[in-house]
Amino acid sequence: MQKSLAQIKKVAKFGGTSVATSQNIKKVLGIIKQQKENLAVVVSAFGNLENEPKITDLLIQTAQIAVKKDLDYLKKLQIFEQKHFLISKELDLKSEQLEEIKLIIKELEDLLKGIFLLQELSDKSLDFVMSFGERLSAQIISFYITNQGIETEFLDARKLIKTDSNFGKAKVDFEQTNKSIQNFFEIAQKLQIVTGFIASNKLGQTTTLGRGGSDYTAAIFGAALDVSEIQIWTDVSGVLTTDPRKVKNAFSLDYLTYQEAMEVSHFGAKVIYPPTIEPAKQKNIPVVIKNTFRPKDNGTQILSKQSSSFNSKNNLEDLQNQTEISTKNHKMLIKVVTSLDKIALIKIQGSGLKGTQGFSARLFLALAKQKINIILITQASSEYSICFVIEEKMAKTAQEILDKEFFEELKNAEIEPILIQTKVTIIAIIGENMRHLPGVAGRIFSVLGRQKINIIAIAQGSSELNISTVIEEKDEQKALESLHKEFFEIN
Ligand code: ADP
Ligand code: ASP
Ligand code: MG
Repeated sequence: MQKSLAQIKKVAKFGGTSVATSQNIKKVLGIIKQQKENLAVVVSAFGNLENEPKITDLLIQTAQIAVKKDLDYLKKLQIFEQKHFLISKELDLKSEQLEEIKLIIKELEDLLKGIFLLQELSDKSLDFVMSFGERLSAQIISFYITNQGIETEFLDARKLIKTDSNFGKAKVDFEQTNKSIQNFFEIAQKLQIVTGFIASNKLGQTTTLGRGGSDYTAAIFGAALDVSEIQIWTDVSGVLTTDPRKVKNAFSLDYLTYQEAMEVSHFGAKVIYPPTIEPAKQKNIPVVIKNTFRPKDNGTQILSKQSSSFNSKNNLEDLQNQTEISTKNHKMLIKVVTSLDKIALIKIQGSGLKGTQGFSARLFLALAKQKINIILITQASSEYSICFVIEEKMAKTAQEILDKEFFEELKNAEIEPILIQTKVTIIAIIGENMRHLPGVAGRIFSVLGRQKINIIAIAQGSSELNISTVIEEKDEQKALESLHKEFFEIN
């Protein structure tokens, strides 16, 4: 199989469940063989069967036990080893190939022993620990495919993807990365099986791209090689109208625009890791989400807006008719209802906010300095209160920072004590066509009202393709089901 940069046409990424067992890996090989054009393949760490943790989670747990000087970490390590040897044997790897797998596992054993002895586990060492998931899966799969007669090479993405040193969620240096990927593929001859998720910093130390980051790896390679398609193979048939694990009537969508896909991923649909869309969008490369277990299903195509033929002259009735259950959905009013949990709502109020110039600037600067990401903001027009949502794990830090920043105002009672509410969920309604139509927010409120769900805060992005409400966590299921019914099941 001759390949060079010009010939790599597609990148296909297979997620954790797609490579969770030897049978699944055989399905992956079938999909690879079907592709006529030259491919580069990205894989995640092995996923889980029921009652098992995903390999990446298992690695984190093992390191966290080891750092407490608890020998129980060895039991977890054993589960890790057994899973990799079982899959390797079921795939009939050769003895010299098994020896190579053993060497990688030995390196992990030594690393964990170090963590155990030193009782030290920095974000940097955790990234190194996590890297073993993808390094082993890519190596095992590459040996297996080679044995099946396709010339294959294992490609450790740490050699090519360069990042800063923000361990756990490193930022990619695209200039350097693109150059390295292009140079590499100029001369690569074989099918490359690439490790998802992992990268390295300037010093060559292992970094990771954030949990779920293998999707991003595929987009980084795809954009650098200017491919014609980036495929994300997973365990569902595309992006669905909502999370199928939460609402059983969810159905898959044929098309999403890049913008919609970004919103959907940022607001909780785990099927796409949020940064994935950007590199694809920049190069106008379609991202296709497909099901490894139902490869004939269409899946979802994520494309530029021009490809979706919405006609703004359509009247309200036409649009509403288009919300009927239909897979021809590029004209659908609403595409997805998502939920995002593990968040906290922070509310600041008081007369001191009114007309105080620079209040918001101080607030957001203080949070940005601590790298606290704001997911959603609302401010009442009375300027009396401001509400914003952040990740729950940052809530305590945020409270400390803000108490310090506004110490004077708090002392003089110009602002009331800062309130943090946890156990809340964002429900977001997403769709580009919403922007042409009044009344969507009204429908959301009446649906939630009928269900007696209290809306704590509301926000609509200026792009008008997302209306978000913050509700109590306990109401999440009810809200998703009733909104799904309203927008997708009634016509
Ligand atoms: P992979 O291991 O292949 O990367 P993930 O578990 O990261 O797969 O993502 C796929 C999962 O995303 C699905 O099994 C599904 O439960 C979840 N999901 C959440 N929201 C959606 C949605 N709107 N459409 C499709 N899947 C969704
Ligand atoms: N294995 C990594 C994780 O579990 C990356 C991925 O699966 O995309 O987060
Ligand atoms: Mg994923």
